[in-house]
Amino acid sequence: MTANLLDFDLEGLAVFCESLGEKRFRATQLFRWIHQRGMSNFDDMSDLAKSLREKLKLHAHVAALPILSQQFSKDGTIKWLFDVGRGDAVETVFIPEDDRGTLCISSQAGCAVGCRFCSTGHQGFSRNLSTAEILAQLWFAEHFLRQHLSHPDRVISNVVMMGMGEPLQNYNALVPALKAMLDDHGYGLSRRRVTVSTSGVVPMISRLSADCPVALAVSLHGPNNPLRDSLVPLNRKYPLDELLSECTLYLNKAPRDFITFEYCMLMGVNDQVAHAQELVQLIRRHAANGLRCKFNLIPFNPFKESGLLRSDDATVQQFASVLLAAGFVTTVRKTRGDDIDAACGQLAGDVKDRTDVASRIAQQRAVPIEWHPIQQKSIQI
Ligand code: SAH
Ligand code: SF4
Repeated sequence: MTANLLDFDLEGLAVFCESLGEKRFRATQLFRWIHQRGMSNFDDMSDLAKSLREKLKLHAHVAALPILSQQFSKDGTIKWLFDVGRGDAVETVFIPEDDRGTLCISSQAGCAVGCRFCSTGHQGFSRNLSTAEILAQLWFAEHFLRQHLSHPDRVISNVVMMGMGEPLQNYNALVPALKAMLDDHGYGLSRRRVTVSTSGVVPMISRLSADCPVALAVSLHGPNNPLRDSLVPLNRKYPLDELLSECTLYLNKAPRDFITFEYCMLMGVNDQVAHAQELVQLIRRHAANGLRCKFNLIPFNPFKESGLLRSDDATVQQFASVLLAAGFVTTVRKTRGDDIDAACGQLAGDVKDRTDVASRIAQQRAVPIEWHPIQQKSIQI
């Protein structure tokens, strides 16, 4: 089997070139042809020596992911479904805005974390994506969009690892992909414009700060451990105080001076004023140690198996006003692409559940979600 060159960051490609008996700097030229020009045919890479092109034809290839579908939303959002083999497919979403173009990328086929409100989680987990499969989403989207929009320059200005999967549970493949995104010879994205979103894999947050610090978003969703345990099962392993202390440390290396906390607004579950007040207390305790953050409230995007409902606008506004009054910058995420099921948490692709997460989630559903403790009630969903 020949090597897929999308599997390498620039350093990896330099090592590969050396293994072919070539000088390391050849990798820079090659990397630019692939990522900046979107080329996959070595014969078209005109400034590479003929001998190198011949070697590459024997030992390497640049493989795009087969596209299973491409959907266009009326708001300009585009969603692709890519085939990653063995019956698995992952989704990628492009979200155009006035001042930027954001690509939402998947990191796994499915997800093993199994959050109750997430359709990827409900599908279960098949496998980690390779670096090539992560990068191929950006490689294809960037060059497709340049053609489609007749845009000579870069179209994608921001990347968010918020598609299917938990990126920090696929760390080894993630980091080279991030490095290629940041590389000036690759996509040249600034660290502030590449965001890793995590449900809270604490040990990997500290590794990320050492290996490749980028903007960090943390999916919080609950102000106390019992409630967060029931929404984000990983909280049982890495509870809130541990997670928030790690977030505080991350800021020492982070390209932004705040962490974004995402909070999915679930009607009657985590959206009450009392929850917001408890959240303020929790974050203030950590702010005393240096934690700086912004909140991004995400109206829940429903899917039928979840049995959960979206908080109404007034409730979301009330929740936001408690956070704002406490001095926290708080935004409410606009839902984009919901006519093509491309909104947050709706990415389901098509995944063979090889670890039976889906049946574990079905069992979890029998467990009631805790109401806020001071109200001493629970709701069955
Ligand atoms: N696994 C990572 C990144 C992918 S999920 C994480 O959990 O952070 C990206 C974001 O979408 C997360 O904040 C997640 O909590 C949110 N999300 C998941 N399901 C959702 C839904 N149904 N409605 C709204 N947001 C959802
Ligand atoms: Fe996985 Fe993130 Fe979905 Fe949770 S919200 S199941 S961590 S993709």
